[in-house]
Amino acid sequence: MNSELQTAAYIAASVLFILSLAGLRDQESAKRGVWFGIVGMAIAIAATLADSRVPISAVLVAVLAVGAIIGIVVARRVQMTAMPQLVAALHSFVGLAAVFIGANSALLGGQFDSVAERVIHEVEIFLGVFIGAITFTGSVVAWGKLAGRVSGSPLLLPARHLWNLLLAVACFVLLLLFIGHAGLWTLWLMTALAFVLGAHLVLAIGGADMPVVVSMLNSYSGWAAAATGFLLGNELLIVTGALVGSSGAILSYIMCRAMNRKFLSVILGGFGSTQAVATAIEGEQVAVEVGEVASVLASASSVIFVPGYGMAVARAQSAVSDLTEKLRAQGKEVRFAIHPVAGRMPGHMNVLLAEAKVPYDLVCEMDEINPDFPDTDAVLVIGSNDTVNPAAQEDPNSPIAGMPVIEAWKAGQVFVLKRGQGRGYSGIENPLFFRDNVRMFYGDAKDSLDALLKALA
Ligand code: NDP
Repeated sequence: MNSELQTAAYIAASVLFILSLAGLRDQESAKRGVWFGIVGMAIAIAATLADSRVPISAVLVAVLAVGAIIGIVVARRVQMTAMPQLVAALHSFVGLAAVFIGANSALLGGQFDSVAERVIHEVEIFLGVFIGAITFTGSVVAWGKLAGRVSGSPLLLPARHLWNLLLAVACFVLLLLFIGHAGLWTLWLMTALAFVLGAHLVLAIGGADMPVVVSMLNSYSGWAAAATGFLLGNELLIVTGALVGSSGAILSYIMCRAMNRKFLSVILGGFGSTQAVATAIEGEQVAVEVGEVASVLASASSVIFVPGYGMAVARAQSAVSDLTEKLRAQGKEVRFAIHPVAGRMPGHMNVLLAEAKVPYDLVCEMDEINPDFPDTDAVLVIGSNDTVNPAAQEDPNSPIAGMPVIEAWKAGQVFVLKRGQGRGYSGIENPLFFRDNVRMFYGDAKDSLDALLKALA
Protein backbone atom coordinates (compact mmCIF):
# COMPACT_ATOMS: atom_id res chain seq x y z
CA MET A 1 0.00 0.00 0.00
CA ASN A 2 1.45 3.41 -0.88
CA SER A 3 1.84 5.95 1.89
CA GLU A 4 -0.89 8.33 0.57
CA LEU A 5 -3.42 5.52 0.67
CA GLN A 6 -2.30 4.57 4.16
CA THR A 7 -2.59 8.17 5.36
CA ALA A 8 -6.11 8.34 3.88
CA ALA A 9 -7.03 5.08 5.65
CA TYR A 10 -5.63 6.40 8.95
CA ILE A 11 -7.59 9.66 8.60
CA ALA A 12 -10.79 7.69 7.89
CA ALA A 13 -10.15 5.50 10.94
CA SER A 14 -9.46 8.59 13.12
CA VAL A 15 -12.73 10.21 12.01
CA LEU A 16 -14.62 6.97 12.72
CA PHE A 17 -13.09 6.81 16.23
CA ILE A 18 -14.22 10.39 16.90
CA LEU A 19 -17.74 9.57 15.62
CA SER A 20 -17.68 6.46 17.80
CA LEU A 21 -16.93 8.49 20.94
CA ALA A 22 -19.61 11.02 19.97
CA GLY A 23 -22.11 8.18 19.47
CA LEU A 24 -21.46 6.80 22.97
CA ARG A 25 -22.84 10.06 24.41
CA ASP A 26 -26.35 8.64 24.79
CA GLN A 27 -28.08 5.28 24.69
CA GLU A 28 -29.92 5.81 21.44
CA SER A 29 -26.80 6.50 19.38
CA ALA A 30 -24.51 4.15 21.36
CA LYS A 31 -25.00 1.12 19.09
CA ARG A 32 -24.15 3.21 16.04
CA GLY A 33 -21.11 4.52 17.94
CA VAL A 34 -19.87 0.99 18.62
CA TRP A 35 -20.19 0.13 14.91
CA PHE A 36 -18.19 3.23 13.94
CA GLY A 37 -15.49 2.01 16.34
CA ILE A 38 -15.51 -1.54 14.90
CA VAL A 39 -15.25 -0.31 11.30
CA GLY A 40 -12.55 2.22 12.25
CA MET A 41 -10.50 -0.48 13.97
CA ALA A 42 -10.91 -2.87 11.01
CA ILE A 43 -9.62 -0.15 8.65
CA ALA A 44 -6.73 0.62 11.02
CA ILE A 45 -5.64 -3.04 11.26
CA ALA A 46 -5.98 -3.57 7.49
CA ALA A 47 -3.97 -0.41 6.68
CA THR A 48 -1.24 -1.39 9.16
CA LEU A 49 -0.97 -4.93 7.78
CA ALA A 50 -0.79 -3.52 4.23
CA ASP A 51 2.24 -1.41 5.20
CA SER A 52 5.27 -2.75 3.35
CA ARG A 53 7.36 -2.42 6.55
CA VAL A 54 5.12 -4.97 8.31
CA PRO A 55 6.30 -8.48 7.43
CA ILE A 56 3.22 -10.71 7.25
CA SER A 57 4.35 -14.00 8.72
CA ALA A 58 2.63 -17.11 10.01
CA VAL A 59 3.56 -16.03 13.54
CA LEU A 60 1.86 -12.63 13.10
CA VAL A 61 -1.33 -14.19 11.71
CA ALA A 62 -1.37 -16.82 14.48
CA VAL A 63 -0.88 -14.16 17.18
CA LEU A 64 -3.70 -12.02 15.74
CA ALA A 65 -6.02 -15.05 15.52
CA VAL A 66 -5.29 -16.24 19.06
CA GLY A 67 -5.75 -12.69 20.43
CA ALA A 68 -9.04 -12.29 18.58
CA ILE A 69 -10.37 -15.64 19.83
CA ILE A 70 -9.39 -14.91 23.45
CA GLY A 71 -11.02 -11.46 23.13
CA ILE A 72 -14.29 -12.89 21.82
CA VAL A 73 -14.45 -15.63 24.48
CA VAL A 74 -13.66 -13.22 27.34
CA ALA A 75 -16.16 -10.61 26.10
CA ARG A 76 -18.92 -13.21 25.79
CA ARG A 77 -18.27 -14.74 29.20
CA VAL A 78 -17.72 -11.64 31.33
CA GLN A 79 -20.48 -10.75 33.78
CA MET A 80 -21.63 -7.14 33.71
CA THR A 81 -20.56 -6.86 37.37
CA ALA A 82 -17.01 -7.96 36.47
CA MET A 83 -16.65 -5.40 33.66
CA PRO A 84 -14.60 -2.80 35.61
CA GLN A 85 -11.89 -5.36 36.47
CA LEU A 86 -11.80 -6.53 32.84
CA VAL A 87 -11.35 -2.93 31.69
CA ALA A 88 -8.55 -2.50 34.25
CA ALA A 89 -6.89 -5.73 33.00
CA LEU A 90 -7.10 -4.49 29.39
CA HIS A 91 -5.48 -1.17 30.35
CA SER A 92 -2.58 -3.13 31.83
CA PHE A 93 -1.94 -4.69 28.39
CA VAL A 94 -1.72 -1.23 26.77
CA GLY A 95 0.79 -0.19 29.44
CA LEU A 96 2.90 -3.32 29.01
CA ALA A 97 2.84 -2.98 25.21
CA ALA A 98 4.16 0.59 25.56
CA VAL A 99 6.99 -0.70 27.80
CA PHE A 100 7.95 -3.44 25.30
CA ILE A 101 7.83 -1.12 22.28
CA GLY A 102 9.95 1.50 24.08
CA ALA A 103 12.47 -1.13 25.24
CA ASN A 104 12.63 -2.54 21.71
CA SER A 105 13.34 0.90 20.20
CA ALA A 106 16.05 1.53 22.78
CA LEU A 107 17.72 -1.80 22.00
CA LEU A 108 17.55 -1.19 18.23
CA GLY A 109 19.10 2.28 18.49
CA GLY A 110 19.00 4.37 15.31
CA GLN A 111 20.69 6.87 13.00
CA PHE A 112 19.89 10.55 13.53
CA ASP A 113 20.66 13.63 11.44
CA SER A 114 20.96 15.95 14.42
CA VAL A 115 21.41 15.89 18.17
CA ALA A 116 17.94 17.41 18.62
CA GLU A 117 16.37 14.56 16.66
CA ARG A 118 18.20 11.99 18.78
CA VAL A 119 17.22 13.64 22.04
CA ILE A 120 13.55 13.85 20.98
CA HIS A 121 13.63 10.16 20.08
CA GLU A 122 15.16 9.23 23.43
CA VAL A 123 12.66 11.36 25.38
CA GLU A 124 9.84 9.61 23.47
CA ILE A 125 11.25 6.21 24.45
CA PHE A 126 11.66 7.24 28.08
CA LEU A 127 8.20 8.82 28.38
CA GLY A 128 6.46 5.90 26.65
CA VAL A 129 8.11 3.39 28.96
CA PHE A 130 7.52 5.57 32.05
CA ILE A 131 3.78 6.09 31.46
CA GLY A 132 3.39 2.50 30.22
CA ALA A 133 5.04 1.04 33.34
CA ILE A 134 2.91 3.14 35.71
CA THR A 135 -0.21 2.15 33.75
CA PHE A 136 0.76 -1.52 33.84
CA THR A 137 1.26 -2.03 37.57
CA GLY A 138 -1.44 0.54 38.47
CA SER A 139 -3.95 -1.37 36.34
CA VAL A 140 -2.91 -4.74 37.76
CA VAL A 141 -3.48 -3.42 41.30
CA ALA A 142 -6.82 -1.83 40.26
CA TRP A 143 -7.82 -5.19 38.75
CA GLY A 144 -6.86 -6.93 42.01
CA LYS A 145 -8.86 -4.47 44.12
CA LEU A 146 -11.95 -4.62 41.92
CA ALA A 147 -11.80 -8.43 41.67
CA GLY A 148 -11.40 -8.71 45.44
CA ARG A 149 -7.89 -10.24 45.15
CA VAL A 150 -6.24 -7.26 46.87
CA SER A 151 -7.68 -5.48 49.91
CA GLY A 152 -9.91 -2.55 48.94
CA SER A 153 -8.72 -0.38 51.82
CA PRO A 154 -6.00 2.15 51.05
CA LEU A 155 -2.39 1.24 51.85
CA LEU A 156 -0.99 4.24 53.65
CA LEU A 157 2.76 3.99 54.10
CA PRO A 158 4.37 6.65 56.28
CA ALA A 159 5.50 9.67 54.18
CA ARG A 160 3.96 8.11 51.08
CA HIS A 161 3.79 11.41 49.16
CA LEU A 162 7.49 11.91 49.79
CA TRP A 163 8.21 8.39 48.47
CA ASN A 164 6.19 9.13 45.33
CA LEU A 165 8.04 12.41 44.86
CA LEU A 166 11.42 10.73 45.36
CA LEU A 167 10.54 8.05 42.80
CA ALA A 168 9.42 10.71 40.28
CA VAL A 169 12.60 12.77 40.84
CA ALA A 170 14.77 9.64 40.52
CA CYS A 171 13.08 8.86 37.19
CA PHE A 172 13.76 12.41 35.99
CA VAL A 173 17.46 12.11 36.92
CA LEU A 174 17.58 8.78 35.07
CA LEU A 175 16.08 10.52 32.01
CA LEU A 176 18.95 13.03 32.04
CA LEU A 177 21.46 10.18 32.38
CA PHE A 178 19.73 8.24 29.59
CA ILE A 179 19.97 11.23 27.23
CA GLY A 180 23.58 11.67 28.33
CA HIS A 181 24.22 8.05 27.19
CA ALA A 182 25.10 6.68 30.62
CA GLY A 183 23.82 3.33 29.34
CA LEU A 184 20.63 1.32 28.96
CA TRP A 185 20.68 0.45 32.66
CA THR A 186 19.12 3.89 33.25
CA LEU A 187 16.05 2.85 31.22
CA TRP A 188 15.76 -0.52 32.99
CA LEU A 189 16.13 1.08 36.44
CA MET A 190 13.52 3.72 35.60
CA THR A 191 11.16 0.96 34.40
CA ALA A 192 11.51 -0.83 37.74
CA LEU A 193 10.93 2.43 39.67
CA ALA A 194 7.89 3.30 37.52
CA PHE A 195 6.45 -0.19 38.17
CA VAL A 196 6.76 0.49 41.92
CA LEU A 197 5.31 4.01 41.55
CA GLY A 198 2.25 2.77 39.59
CA ALA A 199 1.48 0.04 42.10
CA HIS A 200 2.01 2.32 45.09
CA LEU A 201 -0.16 5.12 43.66
CA VAL A 202 -3.15 2.80 43.20
CA LEU A 203 -2.59 0.80 46.41
CA ALA A 204 -3.05 4.09 48.31
CA ILE A 205 -6.46 4.66 46.75
CA GLY A 206 -9.38 2.90 48.33
CA GLY A 207 -13.07 2.18 48.40
CA ALA A 208 -15.33 4.70 46.77
CA ASP A 209 -12.60 6.24 44.61
CA MET A 210 -12.02 3.11 42.48
CA PRO A 211 -14.29 4.24 39.61
CA VAL A 212 -12.16 7.34 39.15
CA VAL A 213 -9.01 5.22 39.23
CA VAL A 214 -10.28 2.98 36.44
CA SER A 215 -11.10 5.99 34.28
CA MET A 216 -7.79 7.65 35.18
CA LEU A 217 -5.88 4.51 34.15
CA ASN A 218 -7.90 4.59 30.94
CA SER A 219 -6.51 8.06 30.41
CA TYR A 220 -2.92 6.96 31.23
CA SER A 221 -3.19 4.04 28.79
CA GLY A 222 -4.20 6.57 26.10
CA TRP A 223 -1.16 8.77 26.78
CA ALA A 224 1.07 5.67 26.78
CA ALA A 225 -0.36 4.74 23.35
CA ALA A 226 0.16 8.32 22.09
CA ALA A 227 3.80 8.29 23.25
CA THR A 228 4.24 4.95 21.45
CA GLY A 229 2.67 6.53 18.34
CA PHE A 230 5.35 9.25 18.36
CA LEU A 231 8.02 6.62 18.77
CA LEU A 232 6.79 4.53 15.85
CA GLY A 233 5.92 7.56 13.72
CA ASN A 234 2.34 6.26 13.55
CA GLU A 235 -0.15 9.16 13.31
CA LEU A 236 -3.19 6.97 13.93
CA LEU A 237 -1.77 5.74 17.22
CA ILE A 238 -1.07 9.35 18.25
CA VAL A 239 -4.65 10.44 17.44
CA THR A 240 -6.23 7.38 19.06
CA GLY A 241 -4.02 7.67 22.13
CA ALA A 242 -4.87 11.36 22.49
CA LEU A 243 -8.61 10.58 22.16
CA VAL A 244 -8.44 7.89 24.84
CA GLY A 245 -6.16 10.01 27.04
CA SER A 246 -8.32 13.11 26.93
CA SER A 247 -11.70 11.36 27.12
CA GLY A 248 -10.47 9.35 30.12
CA ALA A 249 -9.26 12.54 31.81
CA ILE A 250 -12.60 14.30 31.17
CA LEU A 251 -14.54 11.29 32.49
CA SER A 252 -12.34 11.22 35.62
CA TYR A 253 -13.13 14.90 36.17
CA ILE A 254 -16.89 14.36 35.72
CA MET A 255 -16.83 11.41 38.12
CA CYS A 256 -14.89 13.39 40.72
CA ARG A 257 -17.58 16.05 40.52
CA ALA A 258 -20.29 13.35 40.93
CA MET A 259 -18.56 12.15 44.11
CA ASN A 260 -17.62 15.63 45.32
CA ARG A 261 -13.95 14.71 45.36
CA LYS A 262 -10.99 16.75 44.22
CA PHE A 263 -9.14 15.06 41.36
CA LEU A 264 -5.76 15.58 42.98
CA SER A 265 -6.91 14.17 46.32
CA VAL A 266 -8.19 11.07 44.51
CA ILE A 267 -4.89 10.56 42.71
CA LEU A 268 -2.94 11.05 45.92
CA GLY A 269 -5.18 8.50 47.64
CA GLY A 270 -6.05 7.88 51.24
CA PHE A 271 -9.84 8.20 51.00
CA GLY A 272 -11.57 6.34 53.82
CA SER A 273 -8.56 6.61 56.08
CA THR A 274 -9.62 9.82 57.82
CA GLN A 275 -10.62 9.64 61.42
CA ALA A 276 -14.04 11.17 60.68
CA VAL A 277 -16.67 9.35 62.72
CA ALA A 278 -20.18 9.42 61.33
CA THR A 279 -22.92 10.59 63.68
CA ALA A 280 -24.72 7.65 65.33
CA ILE A 281 -27.99 6.65 63.69
CA GLU A 282 -31.18 6.46 65.72
CA GLY A 283 -34.24 4.32 65.02
CA GLU A 284 -34.56 0.85 63.54
CA GLN A 285 -34.90 -0.81 60.19
CA VAL A 286 -38.47 -2.03 59.69
CA ALA A 287 -39.04 -5.02 57.43
CA VAL A 288 -42.05 -5.27 55.17
CA GLU A 289 -43.80 -8.14 53.36
CA VAL A 290 -44.52 -8.25 49.66
CA GLY A 291 -48.27 -7.68 50.18
CA GLU A 292 -47.72 -4.24 51.69
CA VAL A 293 -45.35 -3.19 48.89
CA ALA A 294 -47.91 -4.34 46.31
CA SER A 295 -50.77 -2.42 47.94
CA VAL A 296 -48.75 0.83 48.16
CA LEU A 297 -47.75 0.46 44.50
CA ALA A 298 -51.34 -0.29 43.53
CA SER A 299 -52.52 3.01 44.96
CA ALA A 300 -49.51 5.10 43.85
CA SER A 301 -49.77 7.22 40.73
CA SER A 302 -46.06 8.07 40.45
CA VAL A 303 -43.22 5.62 41.08
CA ILE A 304 -39.43 6.02 40.80
CA PHE A 305 -37.00 3.11 40.70
CA VAL A 306 -33.48 3.72 41.97
CA PRO A 307 -31.29 0.87 40.69
CA GLY A 308 -27.83 0.18 42.08
CA TYR A 309 -25.12 -2.43 42.29
CA GLY A 310 -27.48 -4.98 43.93
CA MET A 311 -29.72 -4.98 40.86
CA ALA A 312 -26.70 -5.96 38.77
CA VAL A 313 -25.68 -8.71 41.23
CA ALA A 314 -29.22 -10.15 41.31
CA ARG A 315 -29.57 -9.74 37.52
CA ALA A 316 -32.96 -8.28 38.26
CA GLN A 317 -33.14 -5.88 35.29
CA SER A 318 -35.66 -7.98 33.32
CA ALA A 319 -37.94 -8.26 36.35
CA VAL A 320 -37.63 -4.47 36.79
CA SER A 321 -38.58 -4.03 33.15
CA ASP A 322 -41.62 -6.33 33.54
CA LEU A 323 -42.71 -4.41 36.63
CA THR A 324 -42.31 -1.12 34.77
CA GLU A 325 -44.52 -2.37 31.95
CA LYS A 326 -47.16 -3.61 34.37
CA LEU A 327 -47.32 -0.36 36.35
CA ARG A 328 -47.38 1.77 33.19
CA ALA A 329 -50.20 -0.37 31.78
CA GLN A 330 -52.14 0.64 34.91
CA GLY A 331 -51.64 4.31 33.98
CA LYS A 332 -48.94 5.08 36.55
CA GLU A 333 -45.97 7.33 35.86
CA VAL A 334 -42.80 5.22 36.21
CA ARG A 335 -39.27 6.60 35.97
CA PHE A 336 -35.72 5.63 36.86
CA ALA A 337 -33.23 7.74 38.81
CA ILE A 338 -29.64 7.02 37.79
CA HIS A 339 -26.69 8.14 39.90
CA PRO A 340 -23.50 8.77 37.86
CA VAL A 341 -21.56 6.18 39.88
CA ALA A 342 -24.34 3.66 40.58
CA GLY A 343 -23.08 0.10 40.15
CA ARG A 344 -19.44 -0.59 39.47
CA MET A 345 -18.68 1.35 36.29
CA PRO A 346 -19.88 4.51 34.60
CA GLY A 347 -23.13 3.84 32.74
CA HIS A 348 -23.54 0.42 34.43
CA MET A 349 -27.25 0.89 35.15
CA ASN A 350 -27.99 2.42 31.74
CA VAL A 351 -26.48 -0.61 30.00
CA LEU A 352 -28.47 -3.08 32.11
CA LEU A 353 -31.75 -1.21 31.65
CA ALA A 354 -31.17 -0.88 27.90
CA GLU A 355 -30.46 -4.63 27.75
CA ALA A 356 -33.81 -5.25 29.51
CA LYS A 357 -35.53 -2.97 26.96
CA VAL A 358 -36.61 -0.29 29.42
CA PRO A 359 -37.62 2.75 27.26
CA TYR A 360 -34.83 5.35 27.27
CA ASP A 361 -37.14 8.26 27.99
CA LEU A 362 -38.01 6.80 31.43
CA VAL A 363 -34.35 6.78 32.48
CA CYS A 364 -33.41 10.09 34.13
CA GLU A 365 -30.11 11.40 35.45
CA MET A 366 -29.84 12.31 39.13
CA ASP A 367 -29.86 16.10 38.71
CA GLU A 368 -32.84 15.94 36.40
CA ILE A 369 -35.03 13.84 38.70
CA ASN A 370 -33.97 14.90 42.22
CA PRO A 371 -36.42 17.86 42.36
CA ASP A 372 -39.34 15.46 41.62
CA PHE A 373 -39.00 13.20 44.69
CA PRO A 374 -41.22 15.31 47.03
CA ASP A 375 -44.10 14.85 44.53
CA THR A 376 -43.54 11.12 44.10
CA ASP A 377 -45.78 8.57 45.83
CA ALA A 378 -43.48 5.57 45.97
CA VAL A 379 -39.79 4.82 45.45
CA LEU A 380 -38.23 1.38 45.03
CA VAL A 381 -34.52 1.40 45.86
CA ILE A 382 -33.25 -1.73 44.10
CA GLY A 383 -29.84 -2.72 45.45
CA SER A 384 -28.59 0.87 45.86
CA ASN A 385 -26.94 2.02 49.03
CA ASP A 386 -24.20 4.68 48.92
CA THR A 387 -25.90 6.54 46.09
CA VAL A 388 -29.05 7.10 48.20
CA ASN A 389 -27.29 7.86 51.49
CA PRO A 390 -28.70 11.09 53.02
CA ALA A 391 -25.65 11.33 55.32
CA ALA A 392 -23.79 12.75 52.30
CA GLN A 393 -25.93 15.88 52.63
CA GLU A 394 -26.77 15.88 56.32
CA ASP A 395 -23.76 14.61 58.23
CA PRO A 396 -20.60 16.69 57.78
CA ASN A 397 -18.66 13.95 59.62
CA SER A 398 -19.65 11.25 57.16
CA PRO A 399 -16.81 9.90 54.99
CA ILE A 400 -19.02 10.62 51.95
CA ALA A 401 -20.05 14.14 53.11
CA GLY A 402 -20.67 16.38 50.11
CA MET A 403 -21.13 13.57 47.58
CA PRO A 404 -24.22 14.33 45.47
CA VAL A 405 -26.87 11.65 46.12
CA ILE A 406 -30.32 10.66 44.92
CA GLU A 407 -32.84 12.22 47.30
CA ALA A 408 -35.11 9.17 47.53
CA TRP A 409 -36.06 9.90 51.18
CA LYS A 410 -38.10 12.92 50.08
CA ALA A 411 -40.76 10.68 48.46
CA GLY A 412 -44.00 9.63 50.18
CA GLN A 413 -43.01 5.99 50.74
CA VAL A 414 -39.68 4.29 50.10
CA PHE A 415 -39.07 0.54 49.84
CA VAL A 416 -35.48 -0.71 49.90
CA LEU A 417 -34.82 -4.05 48.21
CA LYS A 418 -31.68 -5.68 49.59
CA ARG A 419 -30.73 -9.06 51.03
CA GLY A 420 -29.96 -8.00 54.59
CA GLN A 421 -28.01 -5.41 56.51
CA GLY A 422 -25.01 -5.38 54.16
CA ARG A 423 -23.17 -2.12 53.60
CA GLY A 424 -22.54 -0.39 50.29
CA TYR A 425 -19.20 -0.06 48.49
CA SER A 426 -17.90 2.65 50.83
CA GLY A 427 -18.59 0.38 53.81
CA ILE A 428 -20.64 2.88 55.80
CA GLU A 429 -24.13 2.62 57.32
CA ASN A 430 -27.05 4.31 55.61
CA PRO A 431 -29.47 6.34 57.79
CA LEU A 432 -32.07 6.18 54.99
CA PHE A 433 -32.95 2.64 56.07
CA PHE A 434 -33.94 3.92 59.54
CA ARG A 435 -36.38 6.63 58.40
CA ASP A 436 -40.10 6.55 59.23
CA ASN A 437 -41.18 6.55 55.58
CA VAL A 438 -38.77 3.77 54.63
CA ARG A 439 -39.45 0.02 54.76
CA MET A 440 -36.96 -2.76 54.11
CA PHE A 441 -38.10 -5.36 51.59
CA TYR A 442 -35.47 -8.03 52.33
CA GLY A 443 -34.38 -10.69 49.88
CA ASP A 444 -32.48 -11.11 46.65
CA ALA A 445 -33.71 -8.28 44.38
CA LYS A 446 -34.77 -10.67 41.58
CA ASP A 447 -36.73 -12.94 43.96
CA SER A 448 -38.39 -9.92 45.62
CA LEU A 449 -39.39 -8.42 42.27
CA ASP A 450 -40.74 -11.76 41.00
CA ALA A 451 -42.82 -12.06 44.17
CA LEU A 452 -44.02 -8.48 43.71
CA LEU A 453 -45.01 -9.15 40.10
CA LYS A 454 -47.03 -12.16 41.27
CA ALA A 455 -48.67 -10.15 44.04
CA LEU A 456 -49.67 -7.43 41.55
CA ALA A 457 -51.11 -9.92 39.04
P1 NDP B 1 -23.61 0.01 46.77
O1 NDP B 1 -22.39 -0.76 46.41
O2 NDP B 1 -23.45 1.19 47.64
O3 NDP B 1 -24.65 -0.97 47.51
C1 NDP B 1 -25.12 -2.13 46.89
C2 NDP B 1 -26.14 -2.76 47.81
O4 NDP B 1 -26.75 -3.84 47.07
C3 NDP B 1 -25.54 -3.36 49.06
O5 NDP B 1 -25.89 -2.59 50.18
C4 NDP B 1 -26.12 -4.79 49.13
O6 NDP B 1 -26.78 -4.97 50.39
C5 NDP B 1 -27.14 -4.82 47.99
N1 NDP B 1 -27.15 -6.10 47.26
C6 NDP B 1 -26.09 -6.86 46.90
N2 NDP B 1 -26.50 -7.97 46.26
C7 NDP B 1 -27.85 -7.89 46.21
C8 NDP B 1 -28.86 -8.75 45.68
N3 NDP B 1 -28.55 -9.92 45.07
N4 NDP B 1 -30.14 -8.37 45.82
C9 NDP B 1 -30.46 -7.21 46.44
N5 NDP B 1 -29.55 -6.38 46.96
C10 NDP B 1 -28.26 -6.72 46.85
O7 NDP B 1 -24.37 0.36 45.42
P2 NDP B 1 -24.67 1.76 44.70
O8 NDP B 1 -24.96 1.38 43.29
O9 NDP B 1 -25.68 2.55 45.46
O10 NDP B 1 -23.34 2.58 44.78
C11 NDP B 1 -22.20 2.25 44.02
C12 NDP B 1 -20.95 2.35 44.87
O11 NDP B 1 -19.90 1.73 44.16
C13 NDP B 1 -20.54 3.78 45.14
O12 NDP B 1 -19.94 3.89 46.41
C14 NDP B 1 -19.50 4.02 44.04
O13 NDP B 1 -18.59 5.06 44.41
C15 NDP B 1 -18.83 2.67 43.98
N6 NDP B 1 -18.22 2.34 42.71
C16 NDP B 1 -18.78 2.76 41.54
C17 NDP B 1 -18.21 2.50 40.33
C18 NDP B 1 -18.80 3.08 39.08
O14 NDP B 1 -18.05 3.44 38.18
N7 NDP B 1 -20.11 3.16 39.00
C19 NDP B 1 -16.96 1.63 40.25
C20 NDP B 1 -16.49 1.16 41.55
C21 NDP B 1 -17.10 1.53 42.71
P3 NDP B 1 -26.99 -6.46 50.98
O15 NDP B 1 -25.64 -7.05 51.09
O16 NDP B 1 -27.67 -6.24 52.29
O17 NDP B 1 -27.87 -7.17 50.00
